[in-house]
Amino acid sequence: MRKQILSFIVTLTVVFTACNTGGDMKTTDEMKATTTEDFQYFVEQFADLKIMRYQVPGFEDLNLQQKKLIYYLSEAALCGRDIIFDQNYKNNLKVRKTLEEIYKNYQGNRESEDFKNFVVYLKRVWFSNGIHHHYSSDKFIPAFPVEYLSELMKNSPDADFPVADGETVAQIQQEMQSILFDPTVAPKKVSLDSSGDLIKNSACNFYEGVTQAEAEAFYAKQKDPNDPTPISYGLNSKLVKENGVIKEEVYKIGGLYGPALEKAAYWLNKAAEVAESEHQKAIIEKLIEFYQTGDLETFDEFNILWVQELSASVDFVNGFTETYGDPLGMKATWESVVDFKDEEATKRTEIISANAQWFEDHSPTDPRFKKESVKGVSAKVITVAQLGGDCYPSTPIGINLPNADWIRAEHGSKSVTMENITYAYDQAAIGNGFLEEFCYSEEEIELAKKYGFMAGNLHTDLHECLGHGSGKLLPGTSSEALKNYSSALEESRADLFALYYLMDDKMVELGIMPSLDVAKAEYNGYIRNGLMTQLTRIELGKNIEQAHMRNRQLISKWCYEKGLAENVIEQVKKDGKTYYKINDYNKLRNLFGALLAEVQRIKSEGDYEAGKDLVETYGVVVDPTLHKEVIDRYQKLNLAPYGGFVNPVLKPVVENDEIADITVDYSEGYAEQMLRYSRDYSFLK
Ligand code: ZN
Repeated sequence: MRKQILSFIVTLTVVFTACNTGGDMKTTDEMKATTTEDFQYFVEQFADLKIMRYQVPGFEDLNLQQKKLIYYLSEAALCGRDIIFDQNYKNNLKVRKTLEEIYKNYQGNRESEDFKNFVVYLKRVWFSNGIHHHYSSDKFIPAFPVEYLSELMKNSPDADFPVADGETVAQIQQEMQSILFDPTVAPKKVSLDSSGDLIKNSACNFYEGVTQAEAEAFYAKQKDPNDPTPISYGLNSKLVKENGVIKEEVYKIGGLYGPALEKAAYWLNKAAEVAESEHQKAIIEKLIEFYQTGDLETFDEFNILWVQELSASVDFVNGFTETYGDPLGMKATWESVVDFKDEEATKRTEIISANAQWFEDHSPTDPRFKKESVKGVSAKVITVAQLGGDCYPSTPIGINLPNADWIRAEHGSKSVTMENITYAYDQAAIGNGFLEEFCYSEEEIELAKKYGFMAGNLHTDLHECLGHGSGKLLPGTSSEALKNYSSALEESRADLFALYYLMDDKMVELGIMPSLDVAKAEYNGYIRNGLMTQLTRIELGKNIEQAHMRNRQLISKWCYEKGLAENVIEQVKKDGKTYYKINDYNKLRNLFGALLAEVQRIKSEGDYEAGKDLVETYGVVVDPTLHKEVIDRYQKLNLAPYGGFVNPVLKPVVENDEIADITVDYSEGYAEQMLRYSRDYSFLK
C-alpha cells in the first residue's frame, strides 16, 4: 500500500518547453539538459517484459564523499539478491543456479528454438527473482518441452550443478522437471483466496510446516492490543514447526540469511564512515545493529532515525521492508534503493507538503473524517542510483515509508517520487504507437505527449505524499476492518485524492502546474487505462485480482456509470474500435470528489459491506468482448506490458590505493548483469 507502481502501461513523452512557474516542474528540455541525448533506454524485450536502463543525471556533480557513500550503499544493495530469491520460494536459488550452469556450459545447438525458449525462461526467472510472475504471482511454465531439460543437462559436461549432500545430478533433473513443469507444484507465490489456507496455498517461503491458523495464533498470543508502540511482529523471520514446536528463525547475522546480511553490513560499515552527517551515520549504524541482533525494537529505532533525516542529499532503503509477498501481510521481503535528492524538482513536492493542511481542509470528505492537523509529511523527488532485492529489476516509481502506523503518526513518513525512473519509462516508450492506437482524438494524443510525463509525476506526488496520509478513522474503527478489500480501497482513496486535486486551480496558483491542461492529460490517461488499456495485463477469460488494477477500474467504471445521464464520459466506436472520450472534465472532477467522499467514509467507519460492494461491482469483472478487442489491438503493436531495469555500474577509480572518483557505466547488458550478480553477490545456498 505504500508503494506506487507504474499505473500506466506506457508513459508518455513531454515536449513542452515553457514552464513559467519558476521551474519547479522539470520539463523534458530541462531533463535533456542533464541527461545524455543519445542514451539507449531500451535494452531488450522478451515474453511480456521490457528491459530498460535508467540514467543517473547529476551524479557527476556530487562531491567525492557523496559518490563514495552511494557506491558503498549500492554494494550493500546488491548483497541481498539471494535473499529475495529464497523468500519468494524455497527452491528458487537451486533453480537459478541450475539454469545458469546450463546457460554457461551447454554445448549443444544454441541456435535452436528450444534453446531460445530456455534462455527466455531463464531471463524470466531472473526478472521475477524466481519462478513466479512478479505481478500475477502465478508460476510460469517454460515454452520448451520437459524432455529437453535432460538434453540440456546431459550436454553441459562442465556444469557445476548445485547438488546437495548425497544428491545426484539425475535427482536434480527430476526435481527441476517437477518444479518447472508440474502445474500442481507451487502454482502460486501468494494466494489471497481467503476460502482456503493462505499459507498452504502460497509458495512463498515464510512458513514451513505450519497452518494459517497456527501462524495466526502464534502471533495473536504475542500482541498486546493496548500497546501504543507495537513492534512489527514477525517481520524478519521464517515461522517453522520443529518436533511439534513452532518457532521463529530470525533473519540476522549468525541466523537465517546471515551470510548475505554480513556482507551487506560490511558495506554499510564503509558507508557509515563517509556519511553526510552524524545523524546519517547513526542511521546506518542502527541498521547494522539490527542486522546483528534481529531485534525489532532496534528496527523501530532505525526507522525513527531514518524518517527524521531530511537534510542529507543521499538516502537509501535497505532491509526487510514491504509485506506484499506474505499472504498474512506480516513478513517483509528484502529490498534496497540508493538515491540522492533532485534539489530542483523537490521544490515542487515541498510546496505540496507545505500545503498539506490546505488540501486536507478542502477535500470533499465529511469533516468528521478529516485530520485536524496533518503533520510530518515530507516529500522529495529523488534520482535513483541503484536498485536491489525486491525493487530490482521491476521497480516502484514512488515509495512512502516507514510502514509502522504508530511511527507514521508520531514521527511522520518520507515520501519519494523516483523521477529518473519515470523518465526512462517515458523515453523508452517514444514512438511505440500506443497513444495513436488508444487515444480517441489527435488533441488527446497531443495533450498526452505534452503533459503526460508531468501529469504522471504530479499524480504520484499527490498520491504518495498527501493521499495515503489524508483522513482519519473514527474512534473505535479497526484499521483491519476492510480485510481483503483494504488494499484496493486504500489505493482508490489515494488515487482519488490525487485526481480530485489535479484539476484544482490551487495547483496552478501554487506554481506547480502551468495550466489545467496537465490535469486533462491525466484524466484522459486515467480513464483510458482504467476502462481499457490496463486489460492488456489480464489473460483472456480472467477477472482482475491485483489491488492497484482493481482500484483503477473501480474509479473509472464508477465515474463512467454515474456520469452516463450527463454524458460525462462517452464510449465511442470508430472503425470498429472502442474509445472513451471525456466530454466534461469539471463534472468528472466532481464525480472523483463524490467517490472520494464515499471511499473515505467506508474507511473511516470500517464499512466492510459497502467496500466489498464497491470493489466487486466496479473493480473486478471484465467485459470479455472489450477485453478481447483491447488485447488484439495491443498485440499488433508488439509491446510488453511490464518493464524493469538494469542497474548502472558504479566503478571506483583508484589512485594511490585511494578512491579518487566513482564513474557510472551504462554499457552492461541484461544477461551479463544477472550472471555477474550471481557470480559476485551470491552468498546463500
Ligand atoms: Zn498507493
